Amino acid sequence: MSQATEPNANPLLAARVLPAYSAVKPEHVEPAVRELLAAQRRALVAAESVTTPDLDWLRNLERINVELDRVWGPVWHLNSVVSSPPLRDAFNRCLPLVTEFGTEIAQNETLYRHFSTLQASVSESKPVERQLIDNALRDFRLGGVTLQGPPKQRFKEIMQQLAARQAKFEQNIMDATDAFEHRETDRTALAGLPQFMLDRAAALAAERGFAGWCLRLDPPTYQTVMAHAESAALREKYYRAWNTRASDQGQNSEWNNGPLIDEILALRHELSQLVGFKTFAEFSLATKMADSPQRVIEFLRDLARRSRGVARDELAQLTEYAGRKLAAWDVSFYAERLRQEKLGLAEEELRPYFALPRVLDGLFKLCGTLFDITVAEAPPPDSWHDSVRYYELERRDGTLIGSFFTDLYARPNKRGGAWMGGAVSRAKLNGQAQTPIAHLVCNFNAPGGDRPSLLTHGEVVTLFHEFGHALHHLLTEVDYPSLAGTNGVAWDAVELPSQFLENFAWRPEMLADIGRHYETGAPLPRDKIETLRRSRTFLSGLAMVRQLEFALFDFRLHQEYSPERGSRVLEVLDEVRREVAVVQAPPFNRFAHSFGHVFGGGYAAGYYSYKWAEVLAADAFAAFEDAGVFDRATAERFRHAVLATGGSRKALDAFVDFRGRQPSLDALLKQSGIAERQ
Ligand code: ZN
Repeated sequence: MSQATEPNANPLLAARVLPAYSAVKPEHVEPAVRELLAAQRRALVAAESVTTPDLDWLRNLERINVELDRVWGPVWHLNSVVSSPPLRDAFNRCLPLVTEFGTEIAQNETLYRHFSTLQASVSESKPVERQLIDNALRDFRLGGVTLQGPPKQRFKEIMQQLAARQAKFEQNIMDATDAFEHRETDRTALAGLPQFMLDRAAALAAERGFAGWCLRLDPPTYQTVMAHAESAALREKYYRAWNTRASDQGQNSEWNNGPLIDEILALRHELSQLVGFKTFAEFSLATKMADSPQRVIEFLRDLARRSRGVARDELAQLTEYAGRKLAAWDVSFYAERLRQEKLGLAEEELRPYFALPRVLDGLFKLCGTLFDITVAEAPPPDSWHDSVRYYELERRDGTLIGSFFTDLYARPNKRGGAWMGGAVSRAKLNGQAQTPIAHLVCNFNAPGGDRPSLLTHGEVVTLFHEFGHALHHLLTEVDYPSLAGTNGVAWDAVELPSQFLENFAWRPEMLADIGRHYETGAPLPRDKIETLRRSRTFLSGLAMVRQLEFALFDFRLHQEYSPERGSRVLEVLDEVRREVAVVQAPPFNRFAHSFGHVFGGGYAAGYYSYKWAEVLAADAFAAFEDAGVFDRATAERFRHAVLATGGSRKALDAFVDFRGRQPSLDALLKQSGIAERQ
């Protein structure tokens, strides 16, 4: 792997540091990472030797993170989107090296002392620097800096073991998902599936030298089968395959994540206790907005109390419509049919109106209107796949703000789901600058022949969601990378910009702009727009309790873990389902085994963040509804208070600054239509 492009000679004028994807060769990854870490260690020794740390010292230290991102970032990213056995091996070999380096910094007592000295000397007039120092001191303590002797050593070991197990958890999901294939020779068994999916299935079968249809288990295929396949047997097969991935009930015991879940929970618990917390849930909240485990649990239970009755009524309505008791794999199917009957709206019927290129254009235009910027496609300076596209975000005067790569189609060897990743963080440090770069990754159906990629409205919402994260990353005005964009933002507030932007995908003006038939050019009919808007609250109680089930399960699991009782995964899940869920899952369901958000990384004892931030997002959007949703002044205040400030101020302060008051639950309950039906 060669080094990425160096900053220009005059870095403040043209500051685009590009990650070098095509240069990542599996065999070069480890030597490059080792070389980088050696250089970083030398830089750290120099930083330790300073007698009076000042802000220049702080900025130099920030550059160490930037350098690590530059080399390790592309490897991490490519391993998620174009994984291959040699790349995965290289990734797995380097993960312990990078983890060790991270723990070494977190446990560096000299740096910790320097930060403490600096804290005493930085004046109140420098709130950003003070926040940076406060965060750093907090992270030193969470990283075990105050430990001595064997506990300190043990903490390091735990970090290593956790990193390896969490990575393996994700790899098992990818392998188990990719290994599944449904082959079919009987066309009638696929009745209900849209034509484009059948075409693709026939093409895949032909590729395999097989006469018939071949369906994979990628997320769009799974969702389409569950909502549209008339054959209950096919839906059951898919439900089972999806919900037993990487489990003891799955196809291949080699990928069973069960033992990993137990180990991960035990390690997280031990780690938390080493640094003075009773549970991992408490440890997790040390970097979040919510102040106590009780507060989180009460918040989730409060929402459950308000929505469960509504969800029950919805299920009763659905059961009555189906005329029989519903199995778990019937719910999406009958929900889709009932939606068609009651609202006159079929999900697939709208797909031809949402061609990806036009949706992207509309999204970019929206951001231009709101934030006075332009988004323009440019040739990708580097790439990892033919379908990758590249865009630049500029101010109206042509100044570059940042750029992003899109990788939007499902394919094998790519992690499922959708996410925004920061490829390069904004930085302006001691004369060197770089503009931010983001990755926008989704798993939509690929285009086929002359047909562009066509999205369901749900996928349109997903795209807006991820782009909200990208705006947060790109519109930041913070010069310190560890506080720029989404970095350093309390995790339970990080979904605010993303869920905020989702709201626009429901606006009639927006739908009229992006909805146009890809063949005829006909606009999305007005009555369809109205129906689509009304459908937002259709079965919203069921959707709400499902998210609450995931959130409460994740949080209780980490809060109640004890070495004596063990992880109790299935018991806790069962208890949570009895308390919250209204659709009962079959006993073979092993949803936890592919819950990558929680066991693969970031959202551990933090899945509640989606609901927590949705309250903020709905409440923030209500301000736009009051002022006019495209109101420039309101958008400017939102950009200034929330998007531009990143982690440089407390999330609650940023919200209150924008809204002029504390967040309230009302907007979310109204938005989801639950308020009026309670
Ligand atoms: Zn998100």
